[in-house]
Amino acid sequence: TPGVRPLIAGNWKMHGLRADGLALARAVAEGARGLDAELVVCPPATLIAAVAEALAGTPVAVGGQDCHAREKGPHTGDISAPMLADAGARYVIVGHSERRAGHGETDAMVRAKAAAAFAAGLVPIVCVGESEAERLAGQAEAVVTRQLAGSLPEGFAARGGVVAYEPVWAIGTGRTPTEADIAAMHGAIRAHLARTAPEGAGVRLLYGGSVKPGNARAILAQPDVDGALVGGASLVAADFLAIAAAA
Ligand code: PEP
Repeated sequence: TPGVRPLIAGNWKMHGLRADGLALARAVAEGARGLDAELVVCPPATLIAAVAEALAGTPVAVGGQDCHAREKGPHTGDISAPMLADAGARYVIVGHSERRAGHGETDAMVRAKAAAAFAAGLVPIVCVGESEAERLAGQAEAVVTRQLAGSLPEGFAARGGVVAYEPVWAIGTGRTPTEADIAAMHGAIRAHLARTAPEGAGVRLLYGGSVKPGNARAILAQPDVDGALVGGASLVAADFLAIAAAA
């Protein structure tokens, strides 16, 4: 999107003990200078504070992988958005398909989490995407539009929220939609956002699902693809940086 700085976010998922997580973060920061894209790494919660400290003064930002919708309270094992911000995060992924599938997160819950992120001064990266059955049934755009309508809080575009389109069947599988299918979906998401708010034209739309150094340039060249959410390839600094360099 013209005038929009690309964003490349790495979702480390449940990977990384202290030593390798810090080494990975430092290697990313080392290679980040001079890149056009903005970079974010999202380590497991146990490493957010240490990674944020290691990356202080570098152009690489830190994000969480999820947050609770409430600021604090009796929610054993959960982490709130203010806690992430306090640990040094600037972004937080919400509504990842692994959270939707593995933790029963609904659109309404995702919307509340994104609102909590804004309230804590974080930028939410809201994930949406259809299953393979939904795509085969010709329902992909309808499903994603419904997820957007239910998952994005009031003022999402005006407040700088980010959307990640991640077809569930492309995550961690090595399979991706065709470039034309990615462009069509991103166009549909852009149209939905622009209908909802004037600022929708400027929302950064990331593609996620098996982005690798070998396919990044073609995917990132599609209209309305403003960056990528990268899982597996974000665990190898050289791969993550190669993807970022393609933006
Ligand atoms: C993800 O889970 O956000 C993701 C895009 O994973 P991968 O790149 O491994 O497909």
